[in-house]
Amino acid sequence: MTQASIIDGKAFAEGLRGKVAELAAKFEPAAGRKAGLAVVLVGEDPASQVYVRSKGKQTVACGMASFEHKLPEDTTQDVLLALVDQLNADPLVDGILVQLPLPKHLDEQAVVDRISPSKDVDGLTPISTGRLALGLPGLVPCTPLGSLMLLKDRLGNLSGLNAVVIGRSILVGKPMAQLLLGENCTVTIAHSRTQDLPEVVRRADIVVAAVGRPEMVKADWIKPGATVIDVGINRLPPAEGSEKGRLVGDVDFADASTVAGAITPVPGGVGPMTIAVLLRNTIVAAHRNADLALAE
Ligand code: NDP
Repeated sequence: MTQASIIDGKAFAEGLRGKVAELAAKFEPAAGRKAGLAVVLVGEDPASQVYVRSKGKQTVACGMASFEHKLPEDTTQDVLLALVDQLNADPLVDGILVQLPLPKHLDEQAVVDRISPSKDVDGLTPISTGRLALGLPGLVPCTPLGSLMLLKDRLGNLSGLNAVVIGRSILVGKPMAQLLLGENCTVTIAHSRTQDLPEVVRRADIVVAAVGRPEMVKADWIKPGATVIDVGINRLPPAEGSEKGRLVGDVDFADASTVAGAITPVPGGVGPMTIAVLLRNTIVAAHRNADLALAE
């Protein structure tokens, strides 16, 4: 039995944050200001609060300015849109991230659509989405871009490889498929209506699982030697006597590791890449907004 090598997203993300910090240090004297990221949080969702705190901390650690806007749960659509307008016009803000999901009474798409494409560091506006589909440069959603970085780091040239993306969300599955197509992979997008999913996945040299179903992908779905990127983050129910359940991905890690060539763990795989790419997108946007060349 072979054992897959582990793709260490935590280490890669640390390196990426180091590069962002170097770029941010050069940006400040050239632009006469720090690059800035504004994060908007509406309501009290505990997971969102943790993410926002972590984003703010890492932004500052990279030498950029962090602007946090916390609004109450009962914020109206008009107040939220007015804040987005204010941030769009603020010359100190290079990136705007509205933490999703928003409370149910708010129209998420309308809020995202209001973000200026030049500050759309989450890559979710129709302009960013369209540019990605057209193969034009632009800001790309953080989780899929981070996943692609890990794949390219592991495999080098992806051209001609069969890639199966499980999941077709706007946030992960669809942009992931576009990115892989841009690398000349032969891409299949699978979803909840896909017939015989294990058989579809078995054709893949690259599997990206973004489903939200704990440990769904098993060893016998995987082509021997395939590279597996597990985007899923699922918390299992707590075992007896413990308070918190274990975090697992959409892939049965122990099982799939016996067949795959390389695999991302959960936690420590794609997860740490998401914020690191957000910071990278912010410094890229800052250079564009200040009309400065980016020495990547
Ligand atoms: P969504 O719920 O928006 O999308 C899930 C997708 O999986 C849908 O396209 C759905 O199909 C498909 N699906 C659901 N059940 C099945 C099934 N049984 N077989 C095949 N396909 C199925 O989730 P997200 O894309 O937002 O997130 C996916 C996972 O990634 C989650 O675990 C989430 O927590 C994690 N995540 C991790 C991030 C990170 O930083 N690492 C960032 C973002 C997400 P259909 O369209 O037909 O309903």
